[in-house]
Amino acid sequence: MLERETFSDFAHDNRLTRENPRELNEKCAVFGIFNKEAAMMTNMGLFALQHRGQESTGISVSDGNKIRTRKAGGLVAQVYNEQDLVKLEGLMAVGHNRYGTSTKETAEKHAQPVLNESQTLALVHNGNLPDTTKLETFLSEQGIPSDRLNDSEMMHAAIAYFVDRGATLEDAVWEAVPYFTGSFSFLAMDKEKIVAVRDQRGIRPLSIGLLNGGYIFSSETCAIDMLGAKHVRDVAPGEMVIAPKDGGLFSTNFAKGEQRLDIFEFVYFSRPDSYLLGQNVHIVRERFGEALWEENHVRGDIVISVLDSGTPAAQGYAAASGIPYRDGLVKTRYAPRTFIQPGQDQRVQAVRMKLNPLKEVIEDKSLVLVDDSIVRGTTARAIVALLRQAGAREVHMVITSPPVKFPDFYGIDTPRQSDLIAAQRSRDEVRRFIGADSLHYLSFEGMVRATGLPESVFSTACFTGIYPIDIGKRKQEISFHPQ
Ligand code: 5GP
Ligand code: MG
Repeated sequence: MLERETFSDFAHDNRLTRENPRELNEKCAVFGIFNKEAAMMTNMGLFALQHRGQESTGISVSDGNKIRTRKAGGLVAQVYNEQDLVKLEGLMAVGHNRYGTSTKETAEKHAQPVLNESQTLALVHNGNLPDTTKLETFLSEQGIPSDRLNDSEMMHAAIAYFVDRGATLEDAVWEAVPYFTGSFSFLAMDKEKIVAVRDQRGIRPLSIGLLNGGYIFSSETCAIDMLGAKHVRDVAPGEMVIAPKDGGLFSTNFAKGEQRLDIFEFVYFSRPDSYLLGQNVHIVRERFGEALWEENHVRGDIVISVLDSGTPAAQGYAAASGIPYRDGLVKTRYAPRTFIQPGQDQRVQAVRMKLNPLKEVIEDKSLVLVDDSIVRGTTARAIVALLRQAGAREVHMVITSPPVKFPDFYGIDTPRQSDLIAAQRSRDEVRRFIGADSLHYLSFEGMVRATGLPESVFSTACFTGIYPIDIGKRKQEISFHPQ
C-alpha cells in the first residue's frame, strides 16, 4: 500500500521558478538548413526533434531579401500547415522547438526564433544562461533595457547591437559572445548566412550535416539522418561556424574549448537513434541496463520499462540477467500535456492517461521496473501505485543514473534543489516515498563507463554539483552537501 504523502515540501508546485523569464529557455531543439525547400525541410527536422520541446515551435526563412517567420505555441504537427510552409519561401532557414510548462500566452510570447523589429536577424538558442549579470550590464551600458527580456532575447539584443553598428553577422556574434556566460548551442541567421555557435564546454549538442551540397545544423543527429543527409561532424566547444548562402563552411574559435557534454543527454534527453560524441544513445542505454544488473543483481519474474527512455536499459538488463523483458505498461502516443495536479490521486490519474498497466502481464509478478531517472519522485510514485493496483506482487525499481542531487542550470528541467527528492531524502526514504520494495541507482562510475567515454568529456553537474561553466550568483541557491 502507498504511504500517505509525508513530505510537505513536495506539495507546492514550481510554477514560480518556471514563470521566471530568465529560466525559460531550457531544453530545446535548434535546426538550420540551406536547401531549396528550406521551410519544408526545417519542418521535418523539427519534427524529428520534437522530444526536445513541445511547448512552442518556430521557423524563420530567408529568401536573400527578406526574413519571414511563423511561430506559435503547440507541436510541430499542429503549428505548420502546407500553406504556411509554401509562404515561407527561401533557400535558408532556422527553426526551434521550445520546452516549457507555461501558459498558452507565455508559450506564444517566448516562442523562438527571436527577431528584431526590422526582421533582419533571427536567433534560435538551446541552453541557458544561469547568471546574466554581465550581459545585462553590457546592454544597459548601451542604453538597451533588458528587464523584460529572457536570456535568449538578451543574447539576440547584444548581437543586434553590433549588427546595427555595421558589423557583419560573424563579427557581431564574435563581439557579443564574451558577454554570454552559460550554456548555448545557438544559430544566428541574417538574410545571407547562418552562424552556428557552441559554448566553450559544449554542454548542449550541435551537429553539422550535409545534403546535396547544402549544410544542416541540428541539435541531434537523428534529424540529419531523417532527411537522408550525412552527418559531417559536430560544432566543437568554443567554435563558431559560418555558413554563407553561396556555400562553404568557415570556422573560427572564440575560446579554447574543452568538451563537457551534459551526461543527462545520454540518460534521458536525446533520442535513441542519435549519436553523441560518436556513441549511439540507444546502445549506451542498453549498457546502462547491463551495468545495473552487474552492480545490483536485483531479481524478479519480469523486467518492465517506464517508457520510453527506460526501454533500451530494460532490454539490456533483461539480456544480461536472463530475466524476460515484457511490456508492462502501454503508452498513449497522443496524450495531452499532463499539468501538475494537486493531489496524489489526480497525479496517478494523470500518469494513467499516459501509461496504462497491462494487468495480464504484471498480475502476481515480482517486477524489476526500469526508469532513467528520479527527479521529484512524483512520477515514480504514481507508477508504482498503478502497478500495485494492477496486482504486482513486488516492485523493485532500478534507475539508470545516480541520484539527482543538484539543479541543472544549463538547460535541462531539473528544478530547485528543494524539489529534488534525492537532495532531501536518504535512499531508503526515497524508496518509501515512491512505495517500492527496493530501489537501486546505477553508480556514477557505472554510468560513465557505460557511455564508453572518459568522465572528463562530461558535465555531471546534476549528480556531482561540479559546474563546468560558472553559475555565478546561482551558487548561493545550492547546498553542496545535501543528503
Ligand atoms: P519523477 O519520478 O522524478 O517525478 O520523474 C521521473 C521521470 O521524469 C522519469 O521517467 C524521467 O524519464 C523523466 N524526466 C527526467 N528528466 C526530465 C525532464 O527534464 N523533463 C521531463 N519532463 N521529464 C524528465
Ligand atoms: Mg521517463
